[in-house]
Amino acid sequence: MAMGRTFRIKVRMRRFRRQHPRIAFAIRSFMIFSATFGGAYGFVSGSRSENSGYDPHTFAIGASFLFALACLGLATLSMRLRFVNKRLRKLAAHNEALIDRNWELKEAEERARSLFEQQGDLIVLRDHQNRITFANDAYCALAGQARGALVGTRFDFDVLEQGDSARESSGTRVHDQKIATPLGARWIAWREGYVRLDAGQPAELQSVGRDVTDRTETERALSDARDQADAANRAKSRFLAMASHEIRTPLNGIIGMGGLLLDTTLTPEQATYAKAVKTSGEALMALIEELLDYSKIEAGKLDLEQRPFALSTLIEEITELLAPRAQAKTLEIAAYVDERLPLEVVGDAARLRQVLLNLAGNAIKFTASGGVALIVEPGIRPNEISFLVRDTGIGIAAEAQQRIFREFEQADERVARTYGGTGLGLAISERIVKRMGGRITLASEPGKGSTFEVAVPLAPSEARAGQTAFPSPDLTGKSILLIAEGIEASLIARRLERWGSQTCLVTDATVAEALLPERSWHAVLVDRAIGPAIADRLGGVARAHAPQRLVLLTSSSRHEKQSAAFTGFLVKPLRAASLAARLALTPEVASPELAPEPPVEATSAAPARGLSVLVAEDNEINALLMRSLLTKLGHRVVIAVHGEAALESWLAASSAGTPYDLVLMDIQMPQLDGIEATKRIRAHEAATGGHHTPILALTANTLVEDRYACFEAGMNGFLIKPLDRDKLDEALAGLAASRQLAG
Ligand code: ADP
Repeated sequence: MAMGRTFRIKVRMRRFRRQHPRIAFAIRSFMIFSATFGGAYGFVSGSRSENSGYDPHTFAIGASFLFALACLGLATLSMRLRFVNKRLRKLAAHNEALIDRNWELKEAEERARSLFEQQGDLIVLRDHQNRITFANDAYCALAGQARGALVGTRFDFDVLEQGDSARESSGTRVHDQKIATPLGARWIAWREGYVRLDAGQPAELQSVGRDVTDRTETERALSDARDQADAANRAKSRFLAMASHEIRTPLNGIIGMGGLLLDTTLTPEQATYAKAVKTSGEALMALIEELLDYSKIEAGKLDLEQRPFALSTLIEEITELLAPRAQAKTLEIAAYVDERLPLEVVGDAARLRQVLLNLAGNAIKFTASGGVALIVEPGIRPNEISFLVRDTGIGIAAEAQQRIFREFEQADERVARTYGGTGLGLAISERIVKRMGGRITLASEPGKGSTFEVAVPLAPSEARAGQTAFPSPDLTGKSILLIAEGIEASLIARRLERWGSQTCLVTDATVAEALLPERSWHAVLVDRAIGPAIADRLGGVARAHAPQRLVLLTSSSRHEKQSAAFTGFLVKPLRAASLAARLALTPEVASPELAPEPPVEATSAAPARGLSVLVAEDNEINALLMRSLLTKLGHRVVIAVHGEAALESWLAASSAGTPYDLVLMDIQMPQLDGIEATKRIRAHEAATGGHHTPILALTANTLVEDRYACFEAGMNGFLIKPLDRDKLDEALAGLAASRQLAG
């Protein structure tokens, strides 16, 4: 405590001395003077005094004591001097170290400053009054001014464009700015924050800017390019739609007229030519459809439906549709839908059909002998269904297996020339399947065949959950002999086993004959493909051993008359329901009337009362075609060659009290197009309260937005070109039915 106090007093005195050196000097001089004077005066007055009792002895003692005292003082002083010297040396060393350190600091500062100044980024510091306190070289260069001219001013660049600003968690504000500089407009990405350089001073705003002009320009160029590409893509789809429309219109004429020509009496030669015209037209049509479909998918316009559909119906329809093509090449085609699958699933049946038709169509195309099987099984994931299309064709080389899924790619150019095709089918199929959330895989061995697998997630439909398409017969313990060979035979055997029967699949007629007497068969199925004569003979032999049912499997219903030995027949590819019905437990007897399903007669007969139809169509050939088709169907036709004429004709008929029953309106016509003409007709009907004439659009355009336009204009539906008799008849029948309902 005391030490502290004395130290404090000392420090204060020292400070006083430092601050007031004159007063200190005066005090010191005064004290030295008074001490010297006091001593001298005492000594002189002492020696002069009479009664001082001077004693030289005592004096000598006193003097020597004083001398000793002085010596002591001197010794102390010299010691202190040495101590002070030592401290001084220490201080000097410390001082030197400090100087070095100072030097280093200065150097570092210099380095930092030059680094700061020569930064590529712009650095500028501003005080609280927005005056520049520091600007680095880059900033000065961009401003085109010397540092001296900038510091102290409120200089700033003109802002041409200000981007959004954001604040980071550290408090730094980040924003982009386009500024005007003497070197032209530049984009700068700024980072701004407050820094406190000196304690006691207000904080300064430090802005660091990076020139991002190149990056920004590139970004802009990229986004412009993307916009352009998008626009080009849209234009391309539009162009394709337009072009396909333009091509379809004359094609409609070619195919339709070809059809009409074929209905007339022709010499065989002429019939061949006319057929060739029609087939080529249809092939061209298919190609256009594919191109249009592809461009639609490319443009991201593939909308999938979510509707319940029956799996087995879809598969059976596909096999039946392709059966003639397969049978023409003496190939087998067969389908098998696993019983564990739900009866109905939810998805886009039309698109799935397109994919499977393409795969199965390819399978038939690239197979010369054997056959094609369509097998539907539960997939590996929940709710996934796996569609297998298996063929015994030429196969695909390993190196081509990836490639063929790309557009316009074919496995083998040489092969492609023999088989034709565009190479678009698989590309479209893969895109559709991907859109459905599924995948297509391929396993193939050249020369042996290929298996394409489509696995797509398809949820079971709620509505008919747990139901089955047909009552599957209980064949437990029943013996069935199947004399057949090939893909379909093994699929039928598989199905029969699922139903519980003991199935013998025999491919050889002699073995079959030997087997027949062994037991009483619940049913014997004989495939006509083993040879018609053999099949007939087997039928005769089997009668005794299979009294209940003896069924002939045939690929067409034309042969059945000759095979009287059988109790019934089934047409290949077999429908599971037909097989189930044939094997149901009530015994069958041979019936003279064997046709299982009488072919549905096309309703080409004219309706009792023909309709009066107004056709607005500018293309002469198509108008002629429409007239022929409608007249053949027993309707009365008036043709108008443009929208204006159609409107006039409609008005005239309405006011004469004989309104048209139907208007077929081409969409694209000169003068007044179909949409506008329809709007006017509808407006007139609304104004007069007249009766509502059904109007169907005639269009070769399949874009969805155009369909909307038709409905918006007040049309009741549309017919897509190319038109044939069946399509037209169907549409008119639908119309008649709805009128009957209404009436
Ligand atoms: P396209 O059949 O119109 O040429 P795809 O895209 O449908 O076009 O098929 C591409 C190619 O894949 C075919 O040209 C063919 O070489 C090969 N390919 C497809 N399916 C099969 C198959 N089942 N067997 C052998 N090759 C096939």
